[in-house]
Amino acid sequence: MTELNLDALKECTTCGEFKPYTEFYRAKQYKDGWRTQCKKCISEYNKLYRLANRKKLLEHYRFYRLTNKEQVAESQRLYQRANKEKVAESKRLYRFANKEKIAEYQRLYRLKIKRKGEDERR
Ligand SMILES: [Zn+2]
Repeated sequence: MTELNLDALKECTTCGEFKPYTEFYRAKQYKDGWRTQCKKCISEYNKLYRLANRKKLLEHYRFYRLTNKEQVAESQRLYQRANKEKVAESKRLYRFANKEKIAEYQRLYRLKIKRKGEDERR
């Protein structure tokens, strides 16, 4: 393997700019050991890809969650434990942004309970 020359520049095949190697990702499968696109172009590409395939990706995640329930629950538990404050904050923000939705949900829930009680009395 050749030594990395930090002064050398590499041309990005997407934006055509010459950038230092620190702006590229390593990739064993390429013959010079580096990706041909710079980091910026790759993140741009990923962003566009996610946008264009949002539905497919959501579907994929949904399927993943269904088939890996235990792993997903476990990793959520670990995440929540490690990020207590962040999780609490995002819950707070969610409640704030969805006040009406939550109120409506609670109203329906109470109605359901009430009805259930009435059914049982009959
Ligand atoms: Zn580029």
